[in-house]
Amino acid sequence: MSGLEAVIGLEIHVQLATRTKMFCGCELSFGDHANVHTCPICLAHPGTLPVTNERAVIYGLRIAAALGCEVAPRSIFHRKNYFYPDSPKAYQISQYDFPLAGPGELGGIRVHRAHLEEDAAKLIHVGESGRIHGSGASLVDFNRGGTPLVEIVTEPDLRSAAEAREWAQLLRATLRQLDVSNVNMEEGSLRVDANVSVRPEGSGELGTKSELKNMNSFRFLERGIEAELERQRELIAAGEEVQQETLHFDPSDGSLTPLRSKEYSHDYRYFPEPDLVPMVPTEEMLEEARRDLPEPPAARRERYVSELGVSEGAAATLAFEPAYGEYFERAMGAPGGGSAAATAIWVTGELVGSLRQADAEEEPLASKATPEAVRALAGLVEEKKISNGAGKQVLAALVAEGGDPAAIVERDGLGQISGSGELEAIVDRAIEAEPEAADEVRKGNPKAIGRIVGAVMKESKGRADGDGVQKLILERLGQG
Ligand SMILES: [Zn+2]
Repeated sequence: MSGLEAVIGLEIHVQLATRTKMFCGCELSFGDHANVHTCPICLAHPGTLPVTNERAVIYGLRIAAALGCEVAPRSIFHRKNYFYPDSPKAYQISQYDFPLAGPGELGGIRVHRAHLEEDAAKLIHVGESGRIHGSGASLVDFNRGGTPLVEIVTEPDLRSAAEAREWAQLLRATLRQLDVSNVNMEEGSLRVDANVSVRPEGSGELGTKSELKNMNSFRFLERGIEAELERQRELIAAGEEVQQETLHFDPSDGSLTPLRSKEYSHDYRYFPEPDLVPMVPTEEMLEEARRDLPEPPAARRERYVSELGVSEGAAATLAFEPAYGEYFERAMGAPGGGSAAATAIWVTGELVGSLRQADAEEEPLASKATPEAVRALAGLVEEKKISNGAGKQVLAALVAEGGDPAAIVERDGLGQISGSGELEAIVDRAIEAEPEAADEVRKGNPKAIGRIVGAVMKESKGRADGDGVQKLILERLGQG
């Protein structure tokens, strides 16, 4: 059914990579033996008192700064009450109506707020569940309980599943530059939930939303939102209404299962945490949070275009996909090689393409093709030591096995064919092989040259420079 537009907002939980937990001195760990990083505070023994981790606050402020958020001069913690075995206190310390930071913006999407809170313990379900006398059980690992989190909430500005995925990727790349979190979706240090609704196109109102959970990769995030949009459009087409609920996405079969009907905030009986003083960031803390803050994407794009002469398209890719931006920066830090404009084209074109082909989420810096090698390759093409086509073959070899471009050129005989007579011989053979095309060119129809150029390229295996070949053919046919 057409005429219904998607309205999507994201809620992102970021585990902070501090040394200790949010309100106690327990060490943070991933993958350690269960329940070894616990203490009376994070196990909620009576009479214990929480103390706010200053490092977590600074990390939160750093995220707020990177998202262009205003920082609240005074924010307070609230208790979010709920009963579930992942919380020994039966409440989570979070923030409610006075969050750490509020409105901001990243990549054109408005950020509603960013606040600090603590993570819940991890439940591990074993055996058969759902039967009173079954063998099923749930185990609790309190190591994760009390891990500092920043929750980022966007406005419902996203209009498609693909846009939501792209923005989440931009956010992860932005956060990764800050060195405040591992931002690993599979390990759960970056968790993305989506609020999804549809509404008639052009309407300013919001439809009833559902909340999607358990999308632990960017691909699943996109697929989960797509499945939910389709479900809602079908419901509305059938004259039914969307219910406010929380849905669990199962990537194995693409299904969406209701977890619980959505709570409203009054269900949580939020009230101010009486054991913690309000958070009032000092000037020193704000300064530390903003120190060495990476350049925001929009400013970076502008700089690449105006100062380095990089094309608009390549600059946008480098700026908005900071992993490629960092790759490019390292390439330009190499002692020599191609110009910034040429290197940017190789990084954002051929390299992006071949890495995506290999694995959708592979990081360029983890690739065997090093930034230094790709810049050197750009230089070889720029100096016409190899043709553009040969350059593509060298890049494929770099991605597959690493190494030095000049050595690969030597080994695979990819060096540009120069005017040493070799190229003339190939051109003459191509003209002989395409007599009709050659006649056409002699009669003054230059379009017919394509078939001869093709024959030269085929025989030279792409090692000849296209412009040079064209010129030589015209010369040989008396049209030069
Ligand atoms: Zn503890």
